[in-house]
Amino acid sequence: MTGETAGPASAPSAVVDTHCHLDMLEDAGGAVARARAAGVAWVVTVGVDIASSERAIEAAARHPDLYATVGLHPHDAKNGTEEALAHLESLARLPGVVGVGETGLDYHYDNSPRADQRRVFRAQVRLAKRAGKALVIHTREAWEDTFATLETEGPPERLVFHCWSGSEESALRALALGATISFSGTVTFKNAAGVRASAAAIPLERIVAETDSPFLAPVPHRGRPNEPAWVRHVVEALAAVKGVSTEEAARATSENARRLFGLPLPSLLGGLSDASDTSDSPRGRTSP
Ligand SMILES: [Zn+2]
Repeated sequence: MTGETAGPASAPSAVVDTHCHLDMLEDAGGAVARARAAGVAWVVTVGVDIASSERAIEAAARHPDLYATVGLHPHDAKNGTEEALAHLESLARLPGVVGVGETGLDYHYDNSPRADQRRVFRAQVRLAKRAGKALVIHTREAWEDTFATLETEGPPERLVFHCWSGSEESALRALALGATISFSGTVTFKNAAGVRASAAAIPLERIVAETDSPFLAPVPHRGRPNEPAWVRHVVEALAAVKGVSTEEAARATSENARRLFGLPLPSLLGGLSDASDTSDSPRGRTSP
């Protein structure tokens, strides 16, 4: 940690926050502005129930660099009626929506009965496949059932395990399903050697970064309400684990995010200037 920290003379590579909850931030507008100033190219804001999914879609409609996911969190699975799932399906097809979730299984909190969690997770796996969207997975203390559901249903083409907390062994199983693995601020925590061991075992081309704002602020902001601008600390920690430059980690994780969510945007591999050139043109996602 005593290595050189001086950055290059040019602007740093863009980074992407693949998972946050903008509607839970006190000052979402300010957070978006600060993220832009910090070189965050795109932000994906995530729905956890019908109301927050609708808020995510509204936010994406307001900001050209913001995208939405729509989903029913395992905590809310008890409200996953047929009517709610049908509503979710109609939301999943709206402009700006790039993913289904977060969905999955949480046997730590068990805020919803496990049978409901499994049923609503299965329904969203199927929805992601029908709608051609990325599946955003939250799983806690439920690895076996999570993998069993994905293996039985067949995983969607694009899926991500958000806020990775699993073992290296689970990581290999997720990779075998074609999954991308998303790391949050926990990768910067002093006591999170296990998370870093997973990151070390996963190829860089399968890794993306997230903040999960307003939760899990990375070091050196730990304990404060998190925001998308701080995703760069996650990328820096990943670079250290992988033994690559921050620039390389930024480019790789941004490109992986673009592919994961099928963002209708130019590659960031050529540098941020290519992407910003298109800021006045249609985003493509509104075309049929
Ligand atoms: Zn989340």
